[in-house]
Amino acid sequence: MAMMGFIGAGNMGYPMIRGAMKAFGTEQVIFTDVSLERREFIKQETGLNYVSDNVSIAAACKFIVLAVKPQFYEDVFNDIKEIITKEQVIISIAAGVTIDNVKSALGGTVRVVRAMPNTPAMVTEGMSGVCFSQDIYNEEEKEVVDRLFSSFGQYQIFDEKLMNAVVCANGSSPAYVYMFIEALADSVVKYGIPRDKAYTLVAQTVLGAAKMVLETKEHPGKLKDQVCSPGGTTIAAVAALEEYGFRNAIIKATDACYERAVSLK
Ligand code: NAP
Repeated sequence: MAMMGFIGAGNMGYPMIRGAMKAFGTEQVIFTDVSLERREFIKQETGLNYVSDNVSIAAACKFIVLAVKPQFYEDVFNDIKEIITKEQVIISIAAGVTIDNVKSALGGTVRVVRAMPNTPAMVTEGMSGVCFSQDIYNEEEKEVVDRLFSSFGQYQIFDEKLMNAVVCANGSSPAYVYMFIEALADSVVKYGIPRDKAYTLVAQTVLGAAKMVLETKEHPGKLKDQVCSPGGTTIAAVAALEEYGFRNAIIKATDACYERAVSLK
């Protein structure tokens, strides 16, 4: 029996598969995907073997990661529900799908980890929120989950009631960060900076600023104040951002993201 099997090897499944290979060894991991092209691509990139159907994953693995879009969950449940037992642990990474949704679709006794990773896992800088169903108390099982989510970045544990908010903070937010990088790069290209240099200039600045928050543990507002000289360039920019509703735009984006997460099933 392989330790961990992945159903779905797309944008999110693939970096998790790479992490799992590193954490547990190639012989402990298998995967499948509905797309043969995708399966072949990942086999070519990683050397990892695949199986061609979801039933084989459910029959062979102690931990099963569901990494398909929420709208395909029902298909996957229908494939695997007859063979899942209470000895197995489902790791579900879909936005909006609750532990109860997974349990009731799979017969109630299966144990579930609900998690929300993000795509920077591809460069081993992922950030995940993780929540355990109450019937997972075995320390060895928890350690496997710890090793998985540490293999492609960091993670924090949350109560399930916060998981929809976690989606807004780490799951969806890389998109807004890319939009910020693109917009700031565009705006300096306007003033003559070559585009490739603009992306490096801005992306490294985002990385550095994030590292300042994480490593100094200072309040972000204090770090912002340190960049704002009285009467200087930065405070002029900050005032313009406030005038155009920067902070409120982020809050409204989070409201939209949260509402959508709640409505997904
Ligand atoms: P994705 O890129 O579409 O990958 C899903 C893969 O699963 C695709 O290759 C898809 O094949 C395949 N698939 C579809 N139906 C299947 C089935 N019945 N059995 C086996 N494989 C099947 O999606 P993703 O972005 O990785 O998202 C996967 C999950 O991660 C979602 O639930 C999402 O909420 C969650 N998530 C995503 C992100 C993100 O930033 N992308 C972040 C956090 C969590 P086809 O393409 O041929 O349909």
